[in-house]
Amino acid sequence: MAVTHHITATSENGQTHTVNLERNFVLDTGRGTLVCNSCGWRDSPLSVRKTYMEFAGEHLAQAHGANLDLAYSASASFRRLQLVAPLLAVGVVLLGMMFLR
Ligand SMILES: [Zn+2]
Repeated sequence: MAVTHHITATSENGQTHTVNLERNFVLDTGRGTLVCNSCGWRDSPLSVRKTYMEFAGEHLAQAHGANLDLAYSASASFRRLQLVAPLLAVGVVLLGMMFLR
C-alpha cells in the first residue's frame, strides 16, 4: 500500500486532521482505502458517486468536527512517482531502440 493523497480539514479550534488515501499498486483493485490519522478509521468506498474527498470530508466533519479548509493534495512520494514514471518509460523505449538496430 502506498499513500497517494492526503485529505485534510481543520476544526474550529484550529486543529488539523488528516485522512490518507492509500492505493495498492501491486494488486490494483482500482479502489483506494481511506485511513484517518487521528482515530484509525478506515473505509474503502464502493460507490463512485461520491469522491474520496467527499467521503473523507464527511468523516472529518462528523468524527472530528473539522469542517473548515477541506483540501485534497497528492503525497510527496506520489508526486515523485508521477515525475519519474514518464522518464522510466522514455528510458525503456530508448533501450529498445538500441537493441533493435
Ligand atoms: Zn478520524
